[in-house]
Amino acid sequence: MSSIVGFPRLMIEVIKNDKCTLCGTCEAICPNRVVKINEKPALKGACLLCDVCYAFCPIVDDAAEEAKYKLLNPIFKNESIGGYMNIYSARSKLKKVLNVAQDGGIVTSFLISLIENKVIDGALITTVDEEWRPKPTIATSKEEVLNGSGTSYAVSSNLKVLHEAVVERRLKKLAVVGTPCQINAMRKLQLFPSVSGLGSEIYLTIGLFCTESFDYDILRQYLERNDVDIRNVKKFDITRGKFLVNGKDGENLMDVPIKEMKSLARGSCHYCKDYTAEYADISVGSVGSPDGRSTVIIRSKRGSRAFKRLNKERNIECIPMEKVKPGIDLIIKLSHRKKESARL
Ligand SMILES: Cc1cc2nc3c(=O)[nH]c(=O)nc-3n(C[C@H](O)[C@H](O)[C@H](O)COP(=O)(O)OP(=O)(O)OC[C@H]3O[C@@H](n4cnc5c(N)ncnc54)[C@H](O)[C@@H]3O)c2cc1C
Repeated sequence: MSSIVGFPRLMIEVIKNDKCTLCGTCEAICPNRVVKINEKPALKGACLLCDVCYAFCPIVDDAAEEAKYKLLNPIFKNESIGGYMNIYSARSKLKKVLNVAQDGGIVTSFLISLIENKVIDGALITTVDEEWRPKPTIATSKEEVLNGSGTSYAVSSNLKVLHEAVVERRLKKLAVVGTPCQINAMRKLQLFPSVSGLGSEIYLTIGLFCTESFDYDILRQYLERNDVDIRNVKKFDITRGKFLVNGKDGENLMDVPIKEMKSLARGSCHYCKDYTAEYADISVGSVGSPDGRSTVIIRSKRGSRAFKRLNKERNIECIPMEKVKPGIDLIIKLSHRKKESARL
């Protein structure tokens, strides 16, 4: 046990080592409400030295790996992509969703279905402003969910607003959308809800496949160096090894190999071994599916129930993953590569 505890320990072992994922957990969980994330987590008052922020940090090595896995209780296990029940390639049938979604609009479809059927009271998602600055957001209606559709490759501290959702707005059942590191943090909260005071309200976790994310300012400066004004961007995409930027007038503003951007990725991403959000109830990404569709990995019973409901509503079309190309082999390959190249 370290002689340094509390936020100072988090600062030394995680933040100063450039391992902070900016997930937002430390801000949400601090009992004294003194941890605030701006560019990095920082203390804005006296630390109680309770060590909760450190214990729930997703980057801190934890003995809970097996327990997190048991929360899912999946049928199959693959060493590259984790446990699962079924894998599909799916796509929304609704223009309203497809017009704003990143890929097949499946994350948006899940959230709308869960909110409209009153399975959840709200969802933690990311919205962006006109300059693509990400903002962790609590969505409680279909319109608010649609407003957050699409991908921001800049990191968004989605869990930051968990305290507001649970304690201030008293929402009882939440879905949380997040990158693998954020899902990892949520599972820790769920495993120890009485310590965290926040985990029991998380009903469903939707994880996004993730190779890496970027700090907003770094991404913006990179675009500027390439003569791209972020205000003209309609969509960012990472596909087939390329980073693509599409403009509002339909033009292609950038098309570079993603390898070129590796050095710009956030420090914590270099340690991450999780490509497919292995501890989520449902994981969603584009890899494996044809363009315009989403790959959907159902991992838990809750995830399976949400998927059955969504299918019944007939707003999505869905086919087993074995029937599409490039298919599951590519997901396994990229997941394996991420594990192999992660720093220890
Ligand atoms: C940083 C990052 C890296 C990714 N890398 C890959 C990859 O390598 N391979 C791959 O197949 N897929 C990757 N994805 C996932 C992909 O971009 C899509 O989010 C996914 O395919 C779901 O598409 P959809 O049309 O179903 O989502 P939509 O219906 O458009 O919904 C997307 C949801 O994601 C939320 N969101 C957007 N940005 C963020 C963010 N920064 N943090 C947390 N939540 C956010 C939105 O609020 C929305 O609820 C990545 C996503 C992120 C955020």
